[in-house]
Amino acid sequence: MNKMTVRDIELRGKRVLVRVDFNVPLDGNTITDTTRIRAALPTLQYILGCEPQAVILMSHLGRPQGERVAELSLAPVAPALAELLRHDVAFTDDCIGSEAEAALNALPRGGVILLENTRFHPGESKNDNQFAAKLAEHGDVFVNDAFGTAHRAHASNVGIAAHLTTVAGLLLEKEINYLATALEQPQRPFVAILGGAKVSGKIDVIDALLGKVDRLLVGGGMANTFFAAQGRDMADSLVETEALDSARNILDAAGAKLVLPVDQRIANAFRDDAAQELIAATADVPAGWQSLDIGPATVAAFAQVIQVAKTVVWNGPMGVFEMPAFAAGTVGLARALADVTAKGATTIIGGGDSAAAVEQAGLAARVSHISTGGGASLELLEGKALPGIIALSDL
Ligand code: AMP
Repeated sequence: MNKMTVRDIELRGKRVLVRVDFNVPLDGNTITDTTRIRAALPTLQYILGCEPQAVILMSHLGRPQGERVAELSLAPVAPALAELLRHDVAFTDDCIGSEAEAALNALPRGGVILLENTRFHPGESKNDNQFAAKLAEHGDVFVNDAFGTAHRAHASNVGIAAHLTTVAGLLLEKEINYLATALEQPQRPFVAILGGAKVSGKIDVIDALLGKVDRLLVGGGMANTFFAAQGRDMADSLVETEALDSARNILDAAGAKLVLPVDQRIANAFRDDAAQELIAATADVPAGWQSLDIGPATVAAFAQVIQVAKTVVWNGPMGVFEMPAFAAGTVGLARALADVTAKGATTIIGGGDSAAAVEQAGLAARVSHISTGGGASLELLEGKALPGIIALSDL
């Protein structure tokens, strides 16, 4: 990477402003998954080890649309971070203004403080320069470690870079290295797996990947749209009628590179306890039924392709994995990825649902990398340059 990282600058005695991704799932005041907080720890520990004057953390949480929304306060994150970091973490009710200034001034040397949700200010999502300048006043240097928002040009990750030397944190560096290396110099065979609900949101990523991969395995709801485009009756399955033309074009262009399921698990209702059957992908789905997972023959066929791969990138579940009755396909693929990782392949899980599925299967530690940013990793896979990465200072 030709961009500066946190290892390239002097941090001793500095006020280090860090954009983290603490956009955690909350149930009231309880954080239901601390993955994103834990993912920031290596960078924060590294910075603290450099004996800075202060570490000032900022993040967004949810979509408060530029207004103060009590349920989207970052307050519960401060004690959770303190426990994981084993270091006091102060909190201030606003990310700019006199209250924030006072809290920052009251910090002891080496203190850590978390600022309130940056998206409580409309200037954040608008990348307003005045708001960015106010944030920048808090620090001497700026570390961006929020991969999850790298595809957005907001004040706290992009605007701020106009005011301070801007370097990547260790998490951002790791994400870029895994995803960019896989795309630019993949060890082959290079296999991509795409699933999830829709084709429409992923047309660009399919196009981009088809130019790079040796095989593109397609499962999940999006496979239904491809089958429908081939003229198969998918009955009540999720099919995007408006994406049928795109699906047809993709099938024509991809040829044998694009691999569709050979069998599917169908159900007579969108329910975990619905009646279910396995059908071959050559057969029509009977009236009143819908396809909710790939079948075991597809898991075996996909696993055979994965088994010989040297690089695998996966985004999107193979079925409605949230219901145990339709999780077998997704879990089966997660196992195939774990197996090929053990043989030395590099396996990368795009964020979001596929990451949740791999965690749910208990296989998170057995793949090479699980991205913390679903949207950002998809845009990298599309070959787009991400504003948060462009904004980093050049080496
Ligand atoms: P996406 O955000 O496009 O990656 O879609 C993820 C969602 O797709 C998950 O919530 C899955 O339950 C859903 N999904 C996967 N396969 C199917 C399917 N065959 N039918 C309906 N929904 C599906």
